[in-house]
Amino acid sequence: MDAQKGSINVTSENIFPVIKKFLYSDHEIFLRELVSNAVDATQKLKTLNSVGEYKGPMNDLNVEVKIDKEAGTLSVIDHGVGMTSGEIDKYINQIAFSGAEEFLAKYKNDSNAIIGHFGLGFYSAFMVATKVVIKTKSYRDDSVGVEWECDGSPEFTMKDIDKKDRGTEIILYIDDENKDFLEKSKVESLLKKYCRYLPVPIIFGKKEEWKDGKMVETDQDNIINKTEPEWTKSPATLTDKDYINFYHDLYPMSEDPLFWIHLNVDFPFHLTGILYFPKLDKNNFNRNKIQLYCNQVFVTDSVEGVVPEFMMLLQGVIDSPDIPLNVSRSYLQSDSNVKKISGYITRKVADRLQQLFNDDRKEFETKWDDIKIFIEFGMLSDEKFFDRAKSFTLLKNIDGQYFSLEEYQNLIKDNQTDKDGQLIYLYANDKDTQYQYIENAKAKGYDVLLMDGQLDNHLASMLEQKLEKSRFVRVDSDIIPNLIKKDDIKTDSLNDDERRVYAEMFKSQIPTIENSEFIVMFEAVGALDQPLLITQNEFMRRMKEMQSVQPGMSFYGKMPDSFNLIVNIDNPLVKKVLEKANISFGEEIAPINVDIKEKNLKAEELRKATHDKKEDEIPVQDKESLRKLEDEVADLRKKEEDIVKKYASSDSMLKQLVDLAFLSNNMLKGEALSNFIKRSTQLL
Ligand code: ADP
Ligand code: MG
Repeated sequence: MDAQKGSINVTSENIFPVIKKFLYSDHEIFLRELVSNAVDATQKLKTLNSVGEYKGPMNDLNVEVKIDKEAGTLSVIDHGVGMTSGEIDKYINQIAFSGAEEFLAKYKNDSNAIIGHFGLGFYSAFMVATKVVIKTKSYRDDSVGVEWECDGSPEFTMKDIDKKDRGTEIILYIDDENKDFLEKSKVESLLKKYCRYLPVPIIFGKKEEWKDGKMVETDQDNIINKTEPEWTKSPATLTDKDYINFYHDLYPMSEDPLFWIHLNVDFPFHLTGILYFPKLDKNNFNRNKIQLYCNQVFVTDSVEGVVPEFMMLLQGVIDSPDIPLNVSRSYLQSDSNVKKISGYITRKVADRLQQLFNDDRKEFETKWDDIKIFIEFGMLSDEKFFDRAKSFTLLKNIDGQYFSLEEYQNLIKDNQTDKDGQLIYLYANDKDTQYQYIENAKAKGYDVLLMDGQLDNHLASMLEQKLEKSRFVRVDSDIIPNLIKKDDIKTDSLNDDERRVYAEMFKSQIPTIENSEFIVMFEAVGALDQPLLITQNEFMRRMKEMQSVQPGMSFYGKMPDSFNLIVNIDNPLVKKVLEKANISFGEEIAPINVDIKEKNLKAEELRKATHDKKEDEIPVQDKESLRKLEDEVADLRKKEEDIVKKYASSDSMLKQLVDLAFLSNNMLKGEALSNFIKRSTQLL
C-alpha cells in the first residue's frame, strides 16, 4: 500500500475540538477505553483460536501500558487480532455520526454517554493527546503492518510498515494540559481503578522491591489486575474464605462482611456479581459502595437506578453487559432491562435471607441487629420486598428474644388483645429511661418489644397498615389500663371542681421545660402503682419523630412536645396530698366555687336566651351583662388559682412527688434537679 492521506469521515466539521471541549470532566476514561479495546482484541484472538480459525502461536496474551516521559508518550500494546488497513478504514476512519450537536448539548457533562453513543472509545484518546499513532498487524497469515497517524485534525495518514508481531500498539502524544498522564503513580492508580479485574493480564512496568535502603525494579512484570475475580467463578468452587478475601480485596479497610449473595443469571439478561452485607457503621452509611462492571471493566460505583435504593447499603460487584452503561441516569431508570435487573436482585436478596432464616435461625438472630436496618429500609421502600420479608423479619423483645411476626402474634394474642379486638404491640425504645413503664407492663404479664432502630417508628406504622387489627403502643404513652383497654375502666371519684383545682395545684409545681406542654390528669390506677406518671401521646410523638427524617411533615415538628402528668388518686401518698390540700384551702375556696357556679349559670341563661338571635339583635344591655359575668368568673378563678398556687408552693411533699415523676423520666435537669436534691436532704 502506498502512503495514503484521508479525512476522517464525520459529518461534523471537526470532531476533535468537540471531544476536547465536552469531555473535559472525565479525561481519565481514555485509558479505560484503550485498555479495554486491547483486551477485546486479545479475547477475540482466543475465540478465533478456539473455533479453529486462527492456528498461529498464542504467545504474550497480555496488554502492556507504557509511559515514556522524555518522548511524552503513553502507549497501550496488545498482541490480539490487530487490524488490516481495510479494518482501520472501516473501524477507525468511519465514525457514524448523526444528530451530533443536539446530543452533545444534552449530555455535555456525561462523557460516558457520548463515548458510548458514538462508539468513540478509541477517539477519547484525543481528549489527552495532540497526536495518536496506531501501529498494528492483523493475525491473518499474509497481512502486513500498518501505521496510522492523526494529529487531532480530521486528516490522517496511513502507510505500510514493518511490524514483526501480531497485535496493536496505540501511542498517545500527551498534550501539555494532561502531562499528569505521564506520571507513573497517576497511571497506576487509574489502571487499578478501571482495570483491576480485567480478564487479560495488564502489565505496567516492573515489580519493585526494597533493596539496600531503596526501592529497585526487579525483572518481574508488574501485573496490576486479577484476571479471574471471584464473581466470574462458579459458587461451587468457592469457599467462605474466598468470598471474605475477595471482599477485603474490594474494601481493604473493612470488617468482615456478615454474609453474601452470589448472583448469576443468563436470562432474560446477563448478570453476575457478588453482593455483601457489610457490618454497617450505624452513624455513617456508605452508599454507592457497589461497583458496576461491564465485562470486568469497571464502569462506576454510583449505582442509583440499577439496584433498588435500599440495596445501596450493600457492597460488592455487579457485572452485566446488558446494563446500558453509556447512557444518562434518567434513561437508566426507565430502561426495562434495568428494572428487571433491579427486581431480580431484590428477589435474590430476599431468597437468601429467607434461606438463612430457615436453615440457621440462631445465626440469623445473631446477625439480626446488624442487618435489621437494611431489611426495614427494604420493607418500607419496596412493596415486593415487604411481601417476602414479612416471613423472616424479626421482632426483638426487651429480654433479647427474637420472634417472627407470626410467632409474636401467637405469643401476645391471648393477653394483649383489647376490648375492640385490636392486638396491641407494646414497645419501648429505651430500656433505661422507660424502665418503670416496662416493669409495669411486665407485671401485667405483657411482653414489651425493644424498638430502638432509626426506622422502627416507620416500620410500626407500616405494620399497623399491613397487619390487620394491630396497633403499636409505646409503654410510656399511657397508664397501664389505657395501654390495652380490656373493659371500660373506672373513672376517678373527683368532681369537676376538685379536678380543676387539683390540676392547677399539680401544674403549678411542674418544672419549666423548653418547648414542652403538660396536661394534668387524674386516674385511679391502683393503690400499688406509682403516685405520678408522665406519659406521652403515641400519635403526636410518632408524628414528631417521623418529621425529623421526613421534611414534608414540619407542621408536627414545630409543635411543642405534649405530655400528660397522670396523678394516680388510688395511691396513698397522693391521697394524703389531696387531703392535706383540702384541709388547707378547702374551706377558703368552697364559697368561691359556689360563686363561680352561680355566675356561670347566669351567663349560661343569658346565652341561651339570645342564642338564636343575630349579633345586632341582642340588646346592648344583655351583651354588657354577659361580658361582666365572664370577667367576674375570670377574676374568681384567678383568686382561686392564687390560693391554690400559694398553698402548692408550701407543700414540699407535693413538690417532691412531681419532681420524682420527672426524675424517673430523666426530665429533671439543672436548677430543678438541684432544688430537688436540696429538698430531699431537708426532708430526710
Ligand atoms: P468499540 O470498542 O465500542 O467498538 P472503539 O472506538 O473503542 O469502539 O473501537 C472501534 C473499533 O476499532 C473496535 O470495534 C475494533 O474493531 C477496532 N479496534 C480498536 N482498538 C483495537 C485494538 N487494540 N486491536 C484491534 N482492533 C481495535
Ligand atoms: Mg472500545
